[in-house]
Amino acid sequence: MNCPFCKEYLEDSRCKNCGYDLNKCRWVSIKKVYPPDDIIIESMLKASGIPVRLHRREVPQLPVGIGPMAETNIYVPEIIVAEAASLIDSYNNT
Ligand SMILES: [Zn+2]
Repeated sequence: MNCPFCKEYLEDSRCKNCGYDLNKCRWVSIKKVYPPDDIIIESMLKASGIPVRLHRREVPQLPVGIGPMAETNIYVPEIIVAEAASLIDSYNNT
């Protein structure tokens, strides 16, 4: 992935170039999706070098065993929200 601030290649959670720290930045939920869209969007964002985190939550109303209906929140660093959102939009429009 790349640093969301300076776009340098990021091998660690902290950017060696500008000091941007993924563990200290604010992560924002940009979209709520369901499988298999979570995997697709995650790999799409990663392919574009965007750091991404998924937070899964089982939907409580549904009985266990009905299938993978866990709702997933897609989180990206606040600084790169616009770029990530437009990528997701382009996926939804195809
Ligand atoms: Zn950087």
